[in-house]
Formats: sequence, C-alpha cells, structure tokens
Amino acid sequence: MGAKDMGPSPVSRSASESRDGIPQRDLDIHFHNTFGNSRTGVALVDLEGAFMDVNHALCEFVGYSEHDLRATTFQELTHPDDLEADLALRRMLAEEISSYQTEGRFIHANGYPVWGLWCVSTVCDGGKPARFICQVHDISELKQMQAELTHQTLHDPLTGLPNRNLFIDRLSVALARLERSPNEIAVLFMDLDRFKRVNDSMGHAAGDRLLRAVATRLKESVRPGDSAARIGGDEFTILCEDVPGGEGAIAIAGRITQAMARPFSLDEGEVFSNASIGVAVAGQGDATDPEGLIRDADAAMYDAKEKGKGRYELFSPVLHERSSNRLDNDNALHRALERGELRLFYQPEIRLETGKVVAAEALLRWAHPEKGLLEPDDFIPTAEETGLILPIGDWVLGEACRQAARWTESTGGEMVVSVNISAHQLSHSDLVYTIRDAITASSIEPSHLFLEITESAMMEDADGALDALATLHSLGVGLSVDDFGTGYSSFNYIKTLDVDALKIHRDFVAGITQDPGDLAIVRAIVTLAKSLGLRVVAEGVETAEQVSAIRALGCDLAQGHYFAPPQPADQLSELLERHPHW
Ligand code: C2E
Ligand code: MG
Ligand code: MG
Repeated sequence: MGAKDMGPSPVSRSASESRDGIPQRDLDIHFHNTFGNSRTGVALVDLEGAFMDVNHALCEFVGYSEHDLRATTFQELTHPDDLEADLALRRMLAEEISSYQTEGRFIHANGYPVWGLWCVSTVCDGGKPARFICQVHDISELKQMQAELTHQTLHDPLTGLPNRNLFIDRLSVALARLERSPNEIAVLFMDLDRFKRVNDSMGHAAGDRLLRAVATRLKESVRPGDSAARIGGDEFTILCEDVPGGEGAIAIAGRITQAMARPFSLDEGEVFSNASIGVAVAGQGDATDPEGLIRDADAAMYDAKEKGKGRYELFSPVLHERSSNRLDNDNALHRALERGELRLFYQPEIRLETGKVVAAEALLRWAHPEKGLLEPDDFIPTAEETGLILPIGDWVLGEACRQAARWTESTGGEMVVSVNISAHQLSHSDLVYTIRDAITASSIEPSHLFLEITESAMMEDADGALDALATLHSLGVGLSVDDFGTGYSSFNYIKTLDVDALKIHRDFVAGITQDPGDLAIVRAIVTLAKSLGLRVVAEGVETAEQVSAIRALGCDLAQGHYFAPPQPADQLSELLERHPHW
C-alpha cells in the first residue's frame, strides 16, 4: 500500500483529536473498518516504534491482546538477532525511502519466534514522515518448511547426520581457518567391515538399524566440536579440528575402532561389525582441498582394511598412488566390458568312471591391454564392489550358453557347461530372467547349464535369492555347491534346494595324498554326498596319485591341471575332437 497517500493520519495515543482536527475515535473506526477483519496483521507505529493501533490479525500473530500491544514497542517484540537490521531499515524509511519489505522475527507472547514478511511504509503528515504503517504476513510455516528442506538437503535422512555436501562445506571452512591457525585438522574416513553381510543376510531393515546404531556410537566417541557425517552406504567421515600434530585424531580413531568393536544389539539379535578407519591430517600451508583430504583418508582406510580390518591407519603419500590405481581399475573394468576385453576360458571336467570329458567350467579372464591376461582374483572383487559383476555376469551367462549350444552340436549332446554365480548376482532378482533368456536365445536344454554357487554365497541369503535358485532349478538348470568344505556346510540349503552336485575345494584335494586330515574331510564329503544322492566333483586335481585317491573314494567327476588347464573354447573344442580318455 502506498504510504504517502494514506490520507489524514491517525492521532497519537495521548490526544483525543488528531493534528488534522479529526477525532481519535473516528480514526479508530476508520482503522478498524479498513483493517479490522483483514487476515494480514496491520499496525500503525509512531516514529519511535510504539504501537498506536493494531488489528486482530496482528494480535493473533504475536499472541498479545490489543491493549498489551499498545503498551509496547516494535523494538521490544523484535527478535534480538533481527533488531539491528530492522532499526537501520526504519531509519532509512524516515529519511530516504518510502517503503520496504523484509523477512523478520517477532517474539511471540509464549516465548518462541514467529516469522513474518513485513511491508512497512511511511505515513506522511504535512510532507514529513509522521508514522509507519506495518503489514505482516505470517510465514512461520513457510520458514519451517524451508528449514526442513535445507536440513534434508544437508543431512542423511536415516541417521540424521550431516551428509557429504554439508561435510564438504564444513571442511572447506575448517581448511580456510587453517590459514590463520598453527593447529592441524584431520579427516577420519570410516567404513564398516561387515555391513554388507548384515544387510544381505539379515535384511535391509536390520542394515538400517545397524547404521543408526553406528551413527549414535560414533557421535558418542568424538569430541563435542568434531563433526561426523554419513557420506555413503556404510561410509562415515569425521572432521576433527585443532589436533596438534595429528595426535588427537589418532586418539579419536582409536576410540572409535574400540567403540565399533563392541557388539550392536538389534531387534534381530547381537551383531558384530568392526570398522576400519583412515586418517588424513592437514596443516597450515598444505596445499589441499576438501575432496583431496577425503580421498587421502579413504586411501588410508583401504590400507587399514588390507592390513586386517577393525583398525586405523594414517595416510602416507605412497597410498595416494595405490588409490588412483584402484580408480583406474574401476574405470578400466567398465571399458573392458564395452571393448570386449573379457574372455571365457573353459576347463574340462572328466567322469572318472569312463575317463571322458562330460562338462566344462567357464572361468572368466580379462585380456588387459597393458597388464596381459588377468585372473578373476585380480578383478572380480572390484567388479563386486562396483556392481559391475551384474553386467559382467550377464555377459558370462550369455556367452557360456552360446558355447554350450556349439558343443552340444559338435559332441552330440553330451557337454554340460557350468558357470560361477557370485553372491551379488544371486541377490539380484533379474537372475532368473537373465538365465531364462540366455537359455532360450541359445536353444540349449536347461539341463546343459549348471550354476556353481559357493556355500558362503548361499548363506548370504538375501531376499529371494534362494527362491531364485529354486525357480531356476525347477526349470531344469543344474546346481552345484562350489568350494564345498570351506564355508558353513549349509546342509539345510543343500536339502531345501535339492542341489545336484558338490565341488570339493582344491585345497582339500591338494592335501589328500599327504594330509590324513584332508583325506578324512574328502571321505566325509563323499559319504555325505552319496547318502544325499549328490554327485561329487573334485577340483584342482594335479597328480596321478590324486586321481587314484579320489577314484578310490568314489568321486564322480574330476577337474584340474592334471587333465587340462582352463583354456579358450576353440582349444577345448580341438581337444574334444581327439576324444581324450584318462
Ligand atoms: P572356482 O570356481 O573354484 O574355480 C576353480 C579355480 O581353480 C579356477 O581358478 C581354476 O583355474 C583353478 N584351477 C583349476 N585347476 C587347478 C589345479 O589343478 N590346481 C590349482 N591350484 N588350481 C586349479 P580361477 O580361474 O582363477 O578362478 C578363481 C575363482 O574365480 C573361481 O573359483 C570362481 O569362484 C571365480 N570365477 C571365475 N569365473 C567367474 C565368473 O565368470 N563369475 C564369477 N562370479 N566368478 C568367477
Ligand atoms: Mg567354480
Ligand atoms: Mg571351486
């Protein structure tokens, strides 16, 4: 509303008549008629800030009666933090400008702040500012929503801790302050050692509960001024300021690792989840940025994991190179799939009764452009970590089924191809479709495809993983338990899933002729398998003595360098054409 054309101005509270000669009572009526029922709060304020008149909406807004408001001033009700700015604006209003709009807080009669959007303008009298007219819209709810939104964009909804954005913000401020301080700051990077296992085996709800409990314990372990954040799945960072020589940070890292080593009691029971921590310290003059410092702490965390988990390590420049190598590896693996650098090798399996090749296991290789032929141990862990194992696994399945179709034709239907499936693939619900598609596309019999799953992967029964296996089994696809004897010996799953075969881990086979313990284990596995009606495959067979031993024990199939190493498909095809017999 234009202030200057307000017309005749109301009188001061003490007079019964305005300076214009209009009776106060008439002015009151005029004010109340105009503003009384407005939902906007309106006040007439004199140049000193005293309320001359107020409407009902304003009374509601601040929780005072009209009478009480008239006895107080604008300044008294203004939030102390907003007062200075408000007074400055009103001074300008009296001298230079005719109106302004601003957001500001009043203190409600009940003591809490209320937010208003204020439109204040001057009312002139004889050409000079005589009083102000203030209108206010209640924006407390809007402000509350704004605050919640800001909180949401800067905090992790699960734990309530600051998120990566806020952490980087705080770290930037701390690094800037460092320029003027002789002290040092430290970033701690913490990763839980067993989170994935808890999440996969006990479900996401348990995983969430664990993360919340970890966040609480983390807050209890740091000093009041330190700032903890959750920046990824099970990754937390802590900013510690004023840590002379970094020693304070090491003490905190020690305290946190100890705190995390204690069991967490969740609804599902007690859970152990150690944490590994990396520490990176920065001091005055160190050329570093927030991202760089976090990366260094991350590299130190990996070092802690490699050195045995549940511990902390301090960053050193050597680690820097290693972490960039790892990053290179991630990206390169991405490209490997696109550029067709992955290969499947096949290792034959021999039926000991007849001495003939009846199956082949598909084993993945990476023809790395610089490093040469890489084995699964060099890159499958990265593939699992990055989730790349899913597209890679899909490719393996498609390729292995196509190869099985070729061998079915060339050998007259005898060859079975087995494919290794990792826990990560297993918990991925698309597996059933991927396999069904691969079988349909290659037109093989489902029984010509075997899936090898390790015991531990079966134990990590994520939602529906075992259902997926059961579905596949019902389609006719064969199931083997790989590396049997090294995991939990999950008899229950073997029975429920009605698996077809057990593969004895090569370590037991390696010791069978020298170590009575290994011999006893292999014998026990064979006995168990026979009583359940399962086939037994011995892997890693390297010598003629081992062949005799496993034959004598009653193993059905054997695989190992003694017969043939893993090799490209065309090489194995040539071998098959010679109809080898062992
Ligand atoms: P695995 O399934 O137990 O495979 C058998 C491993 O034993 C292979 O190692 C094979 O090369 C090796 N081996 C074969 N004969 C002998 C022998 O006479 N002596 C010894 N000492 N070793 C022998 P490889 O190819 O390095 O594969 C290692 C593991 O990587 C496999 O263990 C399997 O768990 C995993 N893997 C291989 N290919 C794939 C794949 O396509 N997908 C997934 N998810 N995992 C795979
Ligand atoms: Mg295998
Ligand atoms: Mg194996």
